[in-house]
Amino acid sequence: MTTMKRTIPLARPDLTEREVEAVVRVLRTPRLSLGPMLEAFERKLAEVAGVQHAVAVNSGTSALHLCVKALGIKEGDEVITTPFSFIASANCILFERAKPVFVDIDPKTLNLDPELVEGALTERTKAILAVDVFGHPAEWDALTHIAKEHGLKLIEDAAEALGAEYKGRPAGAFGDAAVFAFYPNKQITTGEGGAVLTNDDEIAKFCRSLRNQGRGEGSTAGWLRHERLGYNYRLSDINCALGLAQLERLDELLAQRERVAQLYNERLEPLERRGLLRRPHVAPHVRMSWFVYVVRLDERFTRRERDFVIEKLRAQGVECADYFPPIHLQPVYRALGYKSGDFPVAEAVAQRTLALPFHTRLTPDDVDYVVARLEAALESL
Ligand SMILES: *Cc1c(COP(=O)(O)O)cnc(C)c1O
Repeated sequence: MTTMKRTIPLARPDLTEREVEAVVRVLRTPRLSLGPMLEAFERKLAEVAGVQHAVAVNSGTSALHLCVKALGIKEGDEVITTPFSFIASANCILFERAKPVFVDIDPKTLNLDPELVEGALTERTKAILAVDVFGHPAEWDALTHIAKEHGLKLIEDAAEALGAEYKGRPAGAFGDAAVFAFYPNKQITTGEGGAVLTNDDEIAKFCRSLRNQGRGEGSTAGWLRHERLGYNYRLSDINCALGLAQLERLDELLAQRERVAQLYNERLEPLERRGLLRRPHVAPHVRMSWFVYVVRLDERFTRRERDFVIEKLRAQGVECADYFPPIHLQPVYRALGYKSGDFPVAEAVAQRTLALPFHTRLTPDDVDYVVARLEAALESL
C-alpha cells in the first residue's frame, strides 16, 4: 500500500480526444446553436431513455423548471417531493410559487418512501416529483400507481441516474416527464446542460418553445414571434457535440464507474463487518448507475464526528463531501418554516453520510489509499 501523499478529487469528468475533436469540428462551422448537433444529441438521449422526445437545455435545473411549467403546476399547488436530494429538485417547485411538500425517505434506498405519500396528499396536491438519488431509481411502480389513483402528475428527476434501470426499464422513462443533467460531476457532461425526456408530444413541444423565448414551431411563425412567456434555456451546439461524444462512450463510462464501485464494495467490506459503516444499498430489481459512492457511518457516530472525518480526509488529500444536507434544513427552506425534526429519517441519514472520491479513472491503489485513510480516521474517533 502506498502512503505517499496525493490529492484524489471527489469527481472529475472523463474526456478524450474524441470529445475535443467533436467540439472543434463545431467551431469550424457557422452553426453554433440550434444546429445539427442539438438534434443528434437529442435523438441519442431519447434513445438511451427509451422515450419519444428529448429536449436539451442549458442545465438540469432549467429542465426541471420546464417540466413544472409544462405540467401546469402553479401558485397554490402542492407537489410531493423528497428532502434528501440536490436542492434544485425542490427549488423548481418554488420557481412557480407552488409548495414543495416533503415526504420522508426509505432508509435503505434513500429515495422518497411511497408508503408515506398518501398521508401527505391534500386537495391541492398536483404532482409527485421523485428523484433517483445517487443513481438508484425511486420506487416507480408504487409511485406510478399512487399518481394514477389520485390523478396526479409525475416527474422523474433522473439527473443522477443516466443509464440506471428500474425493473429493466431505463431511468428517464418514468412519469409524465423526466430530467437528465450534465454538469461535470455527472455520468456524462456537456460542461453545463440538461434535458427533458417525455413520451408526450405536447409536453415536448411546449418545452421546445419555452427554452427558446416562447417562439412557435416552424418557420411560418417567424423568429420574432413569441407565443408565450419563454426563457433562453438553449444549449449550444458546442455543448451538444461534447454531450454526443460522451453519450457514444456511455457504456464504457458506466462500466468504469461500476468497476470503481465494486472496488469500494470489496475494500470496505471489512469496515462494514467491524460495524464502522454501511456500504450503499442496491435493491435487487434495480440497475444502479453510480453517480457517487456514499457510505453511511454507524449510528454511534455523531454529525460532528462525521464532519471531523471529512476534514481529516481532506487534509490528507482525499476529497469527500456530506451528500446531502437535507433540503428542508437549508437556510432558504428554514425561512419558509421547515425545521429540524420534520423528516427524521432523512435527517438521521444525512448526518452520517459521506461521499468518497468517485470517478472513472480511480485505480485500485487510489481506492486502497482512500479506504486506509477512512479506516484510520474512524479508529481515531
Ligand atoms: C445535478 C442535479 C440537478 C441539477 O442539475 P444542474 O445541471 O446542476 O442544474 C437536479 N437534480 C439533481 C438530483 C441533481 O443531482
